[in-house]
Order: sequence, then structure tokens, then C-alpha cells
Amino acid sequence: MRRLVPPLLVVALLAGCAGEPGESAPSESPNEPSRSATAPTSTPATASDPSPTTEPTTLAPDPRLSADDVEVATAFRAVEHLADMIGPRPGHTEAYFRAAAWAERQLTAAGWQVERQRFPTPAGNSWGVPVEAGPSVNLIATRGEHDPSEPWLLVGAHLDTVPQAPGAEDNASGVGVLLALAEAMDGRRTRLPVTLVLFGSEEPRGPGEAHHYGSKAYVSQLGRAERRSLEAMVSLDRVGVGDVVPVQTVREANDVSTALERVARQADVPTVREEFETSSDHESFADEGLPAARLGSTPYAGYHSAGDLPSGIDRAQLARVGRLMASWLR
Ligand SMILES: [Zn+2]
Repeated sequence: MRRLVPPLLVVALLAGCAGEPGESAPSESPNEPSRSATAPTSTPATASDPSPTTEPTTLAPDPRLSADDVEVATAFRAVEHLADMIGPRPGHTEAYFRAAAWAERQLTAAGWQVERQRFPTPAGNSWGVPVEAGPSVNLIATRGEHDPSEPWLLVGAHLDTVPQAPGAEDNASGVGVLLALAEAMDGRRTRLPVTLVLFGSEEPRGPGEAHHYGSKAYVSQLGRAERRSLEAMVSLDRVGVGDVVPVQTVREANDVSTALERVARQADVPTVREEFETSSDHESFADEGLPAARLGSTPYAGYHSAGDLPSGIDRAQLARVGRLMASWLR
């Protein structure tokens, strides 16, 4: 059997391949001037951060995320794929798991590491249609390890629909903006580490609190340190209709909604404040005392029906929400 090339030699060969073969560079290239010039922009680490040498130095070489980095075409492609190619996708169904596999590929391609969290969803009646019990899944995407005691941001969107709706607006629109943000953040620095979550089984399976199963399962597994360090959670839910962006909280305004409104003004995105209980996944966080808000909820004709199609989605509204979110994350 032929011996494989020893690993060290492979490394040497690969390293050689990376350079221009003709150029025999001086044996010891000094430290890269461009990097050393830009690296120590050293935003003074937050007061609570005990080790200032960790996170900022690894992120420093990346340029900051810009409000103009978000591609509406990416968001709209997701709307078309989920609503036209996959269609109705209640959280426990085979269609839902196909949607999850597709979304996972998009996140991975944009450089994110994706973890799957499985959780049970009960049988019930979803918007007038009987549904069976079954497992569903949350997709949790991160960009490497993050210290649970350090501040972090969470952006979520539910990937499921009610049984009768292809769900272009509810909620392929939110998933689309989330995926466009994931792509925009590739190689870009944000003000804090970001976790993106696509939630399963948000839609109701009965009256009252019989909903939001994915986000409840996600919150329930958060440790005490992560709860304390979560600076803000934003749920993107129905963000492709209208020309003003609703900023919604479960009860009165909070730090998250106030910050979103402030950033929106700076980014020239019109918003309207709303208070509404039991409306989306941010409620699962708010109920546990965690800081959370929602973007979206403009009423539309196709709501929870077969008429919730991509033709009802306004690219300009997707762009407003993408711009607002990038401005908030940067
Ligand atoms: Zn929804």
C-alpha cells in the first residue's frame, strides 16, 4: 500500500501553493503592515468584560456591518422558495423539515454554525384545521463560541405556518430578512455577538397559550448566565407588507423597542409603536423577564390563508426592515 504524504509535508506543500510560485519572497516576511495598522482600534472592552484581549482582537480586522449590506434579493428568494416550492409547513410536518434543511444550508453557506434543537409539539387545532402531535426543530446559528457571561443579541423568525397557508408574509418574510442578515454579516463585525434562531411551531394549536412552542423550548434551555447577558431579542414576524415598520412589545415600551425606534429614525425607516400580547416569539422571552420586541404585523388580506403568496410581498418593506436591523446590529 502506498504511503500517504506525511501531514507536515502536506502543510508545507499547501503553504507553498498559496504563494506565487515565481516569487521567492524573503524568508521571513515581517508582520503584515495592513493588519497591524488597523487591528488595535481597541474599542475599550465593556466594563463587565474581565479579559479585554479576547473577542475584540479576533473581530477587529473585519469591517463593520453596514446598513446597505443587506440584499433584498436574498430575502425575496427565500420568500419564493418557502411559499412556492415548499408551501404550508406546520412545525411537525415533513414540509417543515424540508424548509429547515434548506434554511440550514443557507446559513451554513453564509459561514454560520448551525445547531438543531428538537422539541415536542402537541396535537391540536391550528386555525381551524386539526393537526397531529410530533417533534419540531429550532435552528440555532452562531459564529463560533461566545462567552455566556458576555452581552449578546438574538434575532429570531418562525419558519412554520398554519396548515392552510403557504406563508409568504407569515413568515417567509421574516425568515428571508434573517437569512439576508446572515449573509450580510459574513465577514462583517457587529457591536455584540449575534445568535440567529429559526423557530419551529410558533403558530397556534389551540386557544390561549397553545403556541410559540419553539421559542418556549429555546428559552427553557438558556442558562442563568446567558439569560442575564442577553441584551436584546428581536422577532421578525410578518415584515414584508406595508410601508411603516411596526415595533411591537408585549406590554409597555422597553429598552429594545426604544433602541429600535431610535436606530430607525437615524436610518430613515418609518416605524409605529404597538403593544400586543401573545403575538409572536418575543413573548416567550418577555414572559421570562428577558428584553424582547417584535418587528412586523401590518394587517393584510392573505393572512393565514391560501392567499398568503409572494405576490403580496413588497420588496421595499423587506428592505426597510433589513436596513433597520443592520443599523441596530452594527
Ligand atoms: Zn407569524
